[in-house]
Amino acid sequence: MTAEDTPVGMTNAPPEAAKAAGANDGDGRVVLRLTDVHTYYGHIHALQGVSLEVRDGEIVTLLGSNGAGKTTTLKTIHGLLHPREGTVEFDGADVSRVPAHELVRRGVGQSPEGRRIFSRMTVMENLQMGAYTRRDRGNLNADYDRVFELFPRLLERRLQPAGTLSGGEQQMLAIGRALMPRPKLLLLDEPSMGLAPILVEQIFSIIGDINRQGMTILLVEQNALMALKTAARGYVLQTGRIVRSGSASQLLNDPEVRKAYLGA
Ligand code: ATP
Repeated sequence: MTAEDTPVGMTNAPPEAAKAAGANDGDGRVVLRLTDVHTYYGHIHALQGVSLEVRDGEIVTLLGSNGAGKTTTLKTIHGLLHPREGTVEFDGADVSRVPAHELVRRGVGQSPEGRRIFSRMTVMENLQMGAYTRRDRGNLNADYDRVFELFPRLLERRLQPAGTLSGGEQQMLAIGRALMPRPKLLLLDEPSMGLAPILVEQIFSIIGDINRQGMTILLVEQNALMALKTAARGYVLQTGRIVRSGSASQLLNDPEVRKAYLGA
């Protein structure tokens, strides 16, 4: 696939194009917009003009193989890297130069690749760490309850050091921790990585539940099939460029996507 092949420019696509079974279509308000973003590591030109958008209430997935630039895109959105060219807009403001800690405060939540939980802290302490940017500390109990409702296993394990949790439980904790600051946008980086198939199904089903509760999600995944079954829309990234975009069903039926990412 090449950038020239891109069949659907989602920027102008009508909301009805975003329909996928069970997925929330969003209300049309753009929460996140990347416009022609170029990000570098020194002289390595990792993102070469990435444009994408996420609307309120949607799950949008960003697909791509190893080294395509998925994590770099999330880091650029989250202020850990800044674009050399192009803009990142979040919630109506240009945040291209805003640092990560400020973006967390403004409502960008992230569950990073490899989970990055605090292994010596308990499950509860990890969730508390997730909430530390919150100003209204008074109502944390409702948020713990929400996380434990989504992940009952974490309730059973709440006093256990997080490093002793299984891989799947650590993933649940990483997502739960990202929810604690009540983000407006949740960035998920490879939530299925390293999980057994049954747990992959469970994690994606919970991601769907979180979305149906109103959360807007940008989901980075290598498991293209599960991601496209869960998301409303998707983008395919290849060596730093968006080479395909469309509704999840368009991408699931795209012969090039099927060949390259769905093993068909
Ligand atoms: P994966 O699925 O393997 O995690 P990815 O799509 O997330 O891959 P990125 O991690 O975003 O890919 O990497 C994009 C490109 O940038 C790759 O060519 C990678 O080698 C390069 N890259 C990533 N991090 C750095 C870094 N810290 N320094 C230099 N180059 C980097």
